[in-house]
Amino acid sequence: PGAQLPFDPTKKTIVVLGSGWGATSLLKGLDTADYNVIVVSPRNYFLFTPLLPSVAVGTLNPRSILQPTRYLTRFKEREVRVIEAEAKSVDPIKKTITFADDSEIQGLVSSTTIPYDYLVYAVGAETQTFGIPGVKEHALFMKEIHDAERMQRRFLDCIESAAFPGQTDEEKDRLLHIVVVGGGPTGVELSGEVHDWLEEDLRSWYPELAPRIRITLVEALPSVLPMFSKELIQYTESTFRESKIDVLTGTMVKGVTESSVRLKLGKEGDGKGEGREVDVPCGVVVWAAGNTARQISKDLMAQLPDAQTNRRGIAIDDYLRLAGARDAFAIGDCTASSYAPTAQVASQQGAYLARLFKQLAKRDAIEARIAAVQGEGEGGESKVAAVDEEEKKLRKQLDRVKLKPFQYSHQGSLAYIGSDKAIADLPIFGRNWASGGVATYLFWRSAYLSTLFSLRNRTLVASDWLRVKLFGRDTSRE
Ligand code: FAD
Ligand code: NAD
Repeated sequence: PGAQLPFDPTKKTIVVLGSGWGATSLLKGLDTADYNVIVVSPRNYFLFTPLLPSVAVGTLNPRSILQPTRYLTRFKEREVRVIEAEAKSVDPIKKTITFADDSEIQGLVSSTTIPYDYLVYAVGAETQTFGIPGVKEHALFMKEIHDAERMQRRFLDCIESAAFPGQTDEEKDRLLHIVVVGGGPTGVELSGEVHDWLEEDLRSWYPELAPRIRITLVEALPSVLPMFSKELIQYTESTFRESKIDVLTGTMVKGVTESSVRLKLGKEGDGKGEGREVDVPCGVVVWAAGNTARQISKDLMAQLPDAQTNRRGIAIDDYLRLAGARDAFAIGDCTASSYAPTAQVASQQGAYLARLFKQLAKRDAIEARIAAVQGEGEGGESKVAAVDEEEKKLRKQLDRVKLKPFQYSHQGSLAYIGSDKAIADLPIFGRNWASGGVATYLFWRSAYLSTLFSLRNRTLVASDWLRVKLFGRDTSRE
């Protein structure tokens, strides 16, 4: 139905939903000689999320960390079809997906349904708001490239408004207060980057306003970065104290308005009263409170109520098969598994699936030959015996095509905390090696530079770093 697909009827068709860490890593490793491959994603590019907070403060240009998906697929052996569209629904029984072009410009056809032989479901997650009032309307997120661009624009707007003649001191303080909600790695890295922006650029561009700029990081749990080792948590908290970033742990954000956040203070808050709620004026709120399943994932799970019972996301088995569905796999942040929702996990899962599809292609080819041989099994006794012999051989070959379960290999956790310092928990020879400081920061830079997917991105990121060293960050508000 719909489009003219698949394009080689002798091959099976894999439909990949998404162009993030999981999907991109799969596409990198997938042998397209074996399959028709169709990628459907509302973004026609891959976003290198670890460097997103650097875009929010103008250290990196947005395009330095984007890579068009076609940049990767055009080098594949056979054509990969890339469709810029948002999947609206998956029918795991009929094995079809329906997608639509929701972009500004649409042609005469902007919605269709296509069948798949295999589905790779890699749509990621969205930011969790817990239904807290005002978050969707007034807070900024830190997930997509436009979120980072918006934050930079919004904060510069606040600074320029604070510089407006006749502004009261109270209003200046409000406009120049940036509140980051969520002390996970996203919130911590963003706070560190904003601090660098303040110290390295804003202080000299806006000397009269800079002393009023405040960064507050709010975390509901008793400490920030629960996934890091204790000493690195302490190191981060003390670095933030020195950097004058206010860290409010044990404090829950209960609401956001255009000009304030409502905080519920805990024991660990300002110590003045557990449970007390206060409104804190601010100009910018960045919401980095973790992940939740996208609507399309919730709808898909609702179609498989017996197998999909985890509200956190899509349940999968050890081979990353989507529980309850035939020929469908799910990887990355959209899944609920024992792994953390990280790029590291998603990319290893994508690479694993590429290998698994190679094995499946081998298996399919042998099965097709068995079927063909069986079709030849008519005629004289000697012919039947020869066919039996051939079938036996093929069945042995089939037994040798083993599908191994996915195994995650943790390479460590790494985060930038500002002031040219980073923290790292690295598993070395079975033990955890924790390090923090300037040397770790250099390691962080080189690790990310080498993880970037292309030479083009590496060159752009390195030249952005050099640009900032030479000329500082640009404070123009586009
Ligand atoms: P994503 O990379 O989010 O990709 C999902 C894809 O699906 C996107 O292309 C999206 O456009 C597409 N999509 C969405 N809806 C649909 C739909 N309906 N139909 C089709 N396609 C759809 N992890 C680390 O390991 N290290 C880090 O340093 C790190 N830093 C991070 C920094 C930030 C600011 C953030 C936000 C995350 C960071 N992460 C990091 C986490 C990491 O980015 C995620 O775990 C990773 O992106 C998950 O990969 P994914 O492929 O599941 O999802
Ligand atoms: P997260 O889930 O790691 O952290 C969100 C934090 O927000 C939690 O600690 C939670 O307690 C807090 N929170 C939630 N609601 C709150 C509220 N109302 N008030 C105050 N605090 C609240 O989310 P993240 O930081 O966006 O990270 C998402 C995933 O991406 C994680 O798996 C993380 O490891 C990964 N990531 C990794 C890196 C890195 O390795 N450098 C960087 C960014 C993200």
